[in-house]
Amino acid sequence: MSGDSLKRIARDLHTYLTQQQEAGMEWYLDEGPVDDPSPSTVAPTAPVPAPEVPVATDAPIEPVPAEPVAPKPPADKPKDLEFQMACDAFVRETINQIEQHRQTPVESDQADIFSEPEETVEPLTPEAKATTLAALAEQISSCEDCKLHSTRNQTVFGVGNPDAGLVFIGEAPGRNEDEQGEPFVGRAGKLLTDILKAIGFERDDIYICTTIKSRPPKNRDPERDEVQACEPYLKQQLAILEPKVICCLGRHAAMTLLGTRDSLGNLRKKVHIYEGIPVMATYHPAALLRNPHWKRDTWEDVRKLRALHDALLAETS
Ligand code: SF4
Repeated sequence: MSGDSLKRIARDLHTYLTQQQEAGMEWYLDEGPVDDPSPSTVAPTAPVPAPEVPVATDAPIEPVPAEPVAPKPPADKPKDLEFQMACDAFVRETINQIEQHRQTPVESDQADIFSEPEETVEPLTPEAKATTLAALAEQISSCEDCKLHSTRNQTVFGVGNPDAGLVFIGEAPGRNEDEQGEPFVGRAGKLLTDILKAIGFERDDIYICTTIKSRPPKNRDPERDEVQACEPYLKQQLAILEPKVICCLGRHAAMTLLGTRDSLGNLRKKVHIYEGIPVMATYHPAALLRNPHWKRDTWEDVRKLRALHDALLAETS
């Protein structure tokens, strides 16, 4: 390979890394391959090579001292402004979609014009939500409604703010979750924490749970009868939480919640409605560890999610 080619590669790499740093995407950079237990070779704060001055010959590349890259607010960049505009349009369209959904009359075979109007149910206070969730978690801890009860260590109910506007739903507890009794721990959990931080959330700001509450052996996919047996618990959990928006992490979570068999690629493209609540879908952090090239799409998804969450929260405050 000629010296010029090497320099071109180095310059492209520098530009790429600088763009990621400027966008504040530390989590985008700090994960190595999933099977590689060694620390990442690309640390987020590592000095990046500065662009070289073009040279006319094939002279060896001299190492150039790294210039610190000053982080800029993403909105300073025209590309980000473009995304911001797309994001605003997305939020407007979604709010219209929710409004249309609210105005669509519920079809019912038993519709009766003489029936009593439904009673307005007062929303639960944060304290009442916490108490009711704790009672449900206690009830589920001894559940034997499907065969997974015989292989689990403990049930994994959910963690976070009971009054959160945003709920993340993953597929099922894995080995670490089964040991610790908490969803999204281990490497995938750490990546989720980093993703949350990148959009300005701590784990305690939001709520995290999974579609089923017991670990399938050897981390296999949950089976249909297991999902069906556990689904009522998820529905009760969401009814108590009453989030403004839900984000499904991975196809299985979206399939369970939305009752669809569509691909994640298609599910990501639009907002879905579950019990009047908007639902977005994006990649599961474990999938991102195996396929880091999906992190860019995920970054866009979670920024839209944050914008939608903020707009919906502002609507009711
Ligand atoms: S997965 Fe759900 S239904 Fe099955 S045993 Fe666990 S808590 Fe019960």
